[in-house]
Amino acid sequence: MGKIVLNKIQEKTKENFVKKLASGEYKTKEHKCLCGENKSLKIGNLDRYGLPLNTVMCLNCGLVRSDPYYDDKTLKSFYEIEYRSLYTGAQSANESFFEDQIALGKRIIEYLERELDLSLDGKKVFEVGCGAGGILKAFKLENCDVYGCDYGEEYLKRGRQEGIKLVEGDSTNLKQFGKADLIILNHVLEHFLNSEEELSLIGSLLAKDGLLYVSVPGLLSHRKSYGSLKWYLQNAHVYSFYLSSLEYLMNKVGFRKVCGNEKIRSVFVKDNNVQPTRTSFVKKILIFIFLKLSYLL
Ligand SMILES: [Zn+2]
Repeated sequence: MGKIVLNKIQEKTKENFVKKLASGEYKTKEHKCLCGENKSLKIGNLDRYGLPLNTVMCLNCGLVRSDPYYDDKTLKSFYEIEYRSLYTGAQSANESFFEDQIALGKRIIEYLERELDLSLDGKKVFEVGCGAGGILKAFKLENCDVYGCDYGEEYLKRGRQEGIKLVEGDSTNLKQFGKADLIILNHVLEHFLNSEEELSLIGSLLAKDGLLYVSVPGLLSHRKSYGSLKWYLQNAHVYSFYLSSLEYLMNKVGFRKVCGNEKIRSVFVKDNNVQPTRTSFVKKILIFIFLKLSYLL
């Protein structure tokens, strides 16, 4: 994947978004690192669509974040109005989107079965940020009891046609279905503005010894999927992770890593005694140089 060519819907959406930023209807504000420190190194200033986006690495903990970032009101409106159109070039879930989600769900199942000695039969599975529900459909085919939540009724309708219980809104809307054996966060965590709060809420939905599957686009494997870092960065991403920076965040909110790779696919369990593992200074600097070069080249 190289330079991104936008279709008409995407061009129009980008134009409207830029106009709103210029007029002050959409606002950005300072976004400090969740470790509490504010010294950072700048990686880039644009995202894949050419939208202004400052990407920095925290010198203290190594997390890569967007700073400044949109305020709550802007984000809410962005997800309601521009997000789907900008990122998919379509306003509702077409059939190939649903089929792709099912295929992805099958790959997640393969990963879980390969890494963990796990039987999915009869397990209760939640997905936060489920889109059209295709991933859950794959788990339903494995005889799981599945539930999902997301914003955007248009996408949810598709999964409901398959008899999947999908509710509109955030993870608090899944509370009514009890505790889950497995919660899926597929390419969702990097979008959370208040990731610690969101993860705590999600943790409260997990049964004892329940598993949290987390996948995010891995920073260290971006060249294979995107080529330059320029085509990887997205204005919808609050954070970008490599495995040890993800682990640091998860540890901070009381999750311990069970397995993970740099793609990133990973599994965590709740552990109140876990201590945050910090990326070493040398590793942080090497990663920074790699990212900076990838952005420039
Ligand atoms: Zn930090």
